[in-house]
Amino acid sequence: MEKKKIGKLFIITGPSGVGKGTVLGKFFKTNKNAVYSISQTTRNPRPGEVHGVNYFFVTREEFENSIKNDEFLEWAKYSDNYYGTNKNQVLSALNSGSDVILEIETKGAKKIMDKFPDCITIFLKPPNFNELEKRLRGRNTEDEETIQKRLHEVKKELELSKNYKYTIENDEVENALEKLQKIYNKETA
Ligand code: ADP
Ligand code: 5GP
Repeated sequence: MEKKKIGKLFIITGPSGVGKGTVLGKFFKTNKNAVYSISQTTRNPRPGEVHGVNYFFVTREEFENSIKNDEFLEWAKYSDNYYGTNKNQVLSALNSGSDVILEIETKGAKKIMDKFPDCITIFLKPPNFNELEKRLRGRNTEDEETIQKRLHEVKKELELSKNYKYTIENDEVENALEKLQKIYNKETA
């Protein structure tokens, strides 16, 4: 009997505003066997974000119930909000043969690396701090307090990039996309 194919698990991490969403948005247009893991979060939706597409937007109470019910593969607090990856959603996608991309922050990524040592880890880094700040501000989606909190995390986040198998500098979107595509092709060959 032919062995059932199990998908590969990828993590993409990087500071807020580095361009994870932008690069992944393009990646998913042409990689139909890869699925984006839609997280749950207690943060408010940004203009244009859709429940069930970008995130499942939930209340604190709902999120804490999901923690109690052991529904998360990992979860973390980031900048005063909860973010978590649904266990069943990811495991059933992997078991059906899809590759799953987790776009998560560093604490959650560490938990996944411990549970799934074979997962493929990618860190997206900015060309420099000023450019990162410019992108985060240019997105125009956060208030000043939130921007400051996110920028405060950057040094710690960049230090952790050494724990990732691959680092991609997002200088130009097309360059970063090409590097991501090469990594994906190599790891799923
Ligand atoms: P993240 O998902 O990592 O928080 P986004 O994908 O939302 O970041 O990108 C933040 C902002 O930076 C967006 O306005 C996006 O258009 C812009 N951006 C992303 N990648 C680049 C790039 N390589 N060069 C210039 N601007 C970029
Ligand atoms: P944002 O509010 O900008 O969408 O996300 C803030 C941070 O939370 C980003 O680094 C993003 O990758 C991360 N994140 C999104 N979903 C999850 C998740 O399910 N778990 C964890 N640990 N982090 C997440």
